[in-house]
Amino acid sequence: SSLVVAIDGPSGSGKSSTSRGVASRLGMRYLDTGAMFRAITWWMLTHDVDVTDADAVAARAGDAIIESGTDPQAPTILVDGEDASVAIRSDAVNAAVSPVSAVPAVRTRLLELQRSIIEAGSDIVVEGRDIGSVVAPGAAVKVYLTADPAARATRRAAEAGGDVATTQESLLARDRIDSGRATAPLTMADGAVHIDTTPYTLDEVVGQVVALVEA
Ligand code: C5P
Repeated sequence: SSLVVAIDGPSGSGKSSTSRGVASRLGMRYLDTGAMFRAITWWMLTHDVDVTDADAVAARAGDAIIESGTDPQAPTILVDGEDASVAIRSDAVNAAVSPVSAVPAVRTRLLELQRSIIEAGSDIVVEGRDIGSVVAPGAAVKVYLTADPAARATRRAAEAGGDVATTQESLLARDRIDSGRATAPLTMADGAVHIDTTPYTLDEVVGQVVALVEA
């Protein structure tokens, strides 16, 4: 079966850039599970589902058709056949994604999709919050990335626009919900290697993870 590299950590810790860099360097596929949670959240928002009502969200959890591309150079996400890569990064999705992701029916649905993508092909780098703990506990390499909140907010604001203070508030609000939820909370998995990316460049972190995979 294929080799899995699991990369978990809070928002803005450098997960996406690191995961894509590692997958590109090693010729592996790449799966952004955060994009899948964002996609289902965007679907709920555009289908008039009250995202603050967990029962309403659960009732529609199976209705969105989500297709994830796995090319690390050009990640794509389709919702009901439509390209949603820009829409899933909106402020509305940022505000709603953590409560939607805390709904167990949403997690069950996406877990099935994630496992089928992982099992359907070649070696893959998978990034998220619960990859090493729930989605792929047997992963060959598990990495837990963190960074100082100020560094995380500065990076995210530079990527997405917007001011650093508001971005930091939004990141920390999501962390609190992601770490405190009952199902699959953000946590460092057994056997994970912790890398605090604050003092390193992207290339350096990619190099550290590649070295773990090649070890
Ligand atoms: O990684 P990203 O910041 O895009 O993820 C957005 C949100 O999706 C997270 O804040 C979290 O609520 C949810 N998520 C999750 N489990 C994952 C990946 C993301 O709950 N494996």
